[in-house]
Amino acid sequence: MKYIEQIYVDGVFATPHGSERFDLFNPATEEKIGEVRLGDEEDAHTAVAAAKRAFPAMRRTGVAERVAMLQALRDAVAARSEALHAAMSAEYGAPQSFLAFSVPHASNVFDVAARTVADYAFTRRIGNADVIMEPVGVAAAITPWNSNIGFICTKLATAIAAGTTIVIKPSEMSAIQTQTLLEAIHEAGLPPGALNVVNGTGHVVGAELSRDPSIAKITFTGSTTTGRTILRSAAETFKRVTLELGGKGPQILLDDADLDHAMPRILASAFRNSGQACIAGTRLLVSKRRYAEVTARLAEAVAALKVGPSSDPAVDIGPMVSARQWERVQSYIRLGSEEGATILVGGEGRPEGLERGWFVRPTVFSGVTNDMRIAREEIFGPVLSVLAYEDEDDAIALANDTDYGLQSYVLGADHDRLRAVARRLEAGRVVINETPADAQAPFGGFKHSGIGREFGPFGLEAFLEPKAIIG
Ligand code: NAD
Repeated sequence: MKYIEQIYVDGVFATPHGSERFDLFNPATEEKIGEVRLGDEEDAHTAVAAAKRAFPAMRRTGVAERVAMLQALRDAVAARSEALHAAMSAEYGAPQSFLAFSVPHASNVFDVAARTVADYAFTRRIGNADVIMEPVGVAAAITPWNSNIGFICTKLATAIAAGTTIVIKPSEMSAIQTQTLLEAIHEAGLPPGALNVVNGTGHVVGAELSRDPSIAKITFTGSTTTGRTILRSAAETFKRVTLELGGKGPQILLDDADLDHAMPRILASAFRNSGQACIAGTRLLVSKRRYAEVTARLAEAVAALKVGPSSDPAVDIGPMVSARQWERVQSYIRLGSEEGATILVGGEGRPEGLERGWFVRPTVFSGVTNDMRIAREEIFGPVLSVLAYEDEDDAIALANDTDYGLQSYVLGADHDRLRAVARRLEAGRVVINETPADAQAPFGGFKHSGIGREFGPFGLEAFLEPKAIIG
């Protein structure tokens, strides 16, 4: 049993003022594995005060000092890879494929930020003005459970690169992962107050940070509903906001696609991170001409996916993070049938042989139309909807007919055609044939998927304010 009793403020682990406790579970066994003592509004204030005191010195740092801090952070986090791997596996149940990406990603983001800041033009001349890009002020960050470590690292890296200080409220459901990461980060020896982390619930610590007038910038990753609440609070004090929210990514399978090539890519996009991914491609758009062939292949491929605990390297799909998330996915599977879609594979309940753990059956619905809720709402589990299109224009119209716009996918054989379709999609990212993204490419959403971008120069600029000195 792991007891997390402290928060991290002003460069030290400290006992919070808040005394409420929150239980932590292993989703593969449903067993309680720990408890975290939560901070409260007073802890949020203490952390903001520390970040505010540290800001003037941080603001004055040059590029070389920031790069040195980022490199120290990279090394410190990389040195604890094994512990991070174990924490994510126990507390989150992430399959090995996700761990193989996300653990190295946590240290890489510091390296990427170091390269970005080293290349960035902080001053430039525009007409008769000297334009200086200044740090925006003290930042706050709020992270989700499905990629808690990755987003803490991304947001901290960007703050350091920009020359500002930060208060982070991580997901309360990921406290063991946060603690493991903080023990690593502490070794990097950042100036006291540069990073402050307050465990707490969203409606207490998260809400307080969204309101606090000393916070100039808030960067949030989580659901669209919470993003809207934060945006409203942030408006009162004109905080700059970056919101990375939900998605309902379309995957357009062009009719010239080779299915041997496309099928593993479709599965990777749809069921990434057990379907608990904002970027999951959960609407597959298939031409009417090839619908029967594609759905037959899909049914076979999805039936062969292995569901189980993170400890098994052969597992494709791990558990849902909580009992609540399990119920939510079940309710959407029920809803799909009620709406008239056909279950091609999967369905309600646990997979055979898994009586305990929040495991769900990977499910594919065929005969889905874009007005159904299973086609419009983010389910956040391994549930794929297959829709039929008439022609390319129809496919693009269906793909864009959504409130979301985070990441879309196009699969096919003809490069020019793939790019032409990609250009017409309304999304922050369009991935062609599952090509991996460059680490500095901007990430973020159109429409209700968010505001602003992370990573690379676009991510850095979201933590900066341009100041023009004229004359
Ligand atoms: P969530 O919105 O429930 O919670 C996210 C964070 O916000 C948590 O730390 C939570 O404590 C906090 N929070 C909750 N209410 C709050 C409030 N009123 N004020 C301030 N903070 C509050 O989301 P989740 O369930 O943790 O994560 C899943 C969601 O995150 C999905 O919708 C997913 O698409 C989205 N997500 C988006 C991205 C992206 O980059 N676009 C990445 C990962 C996850």
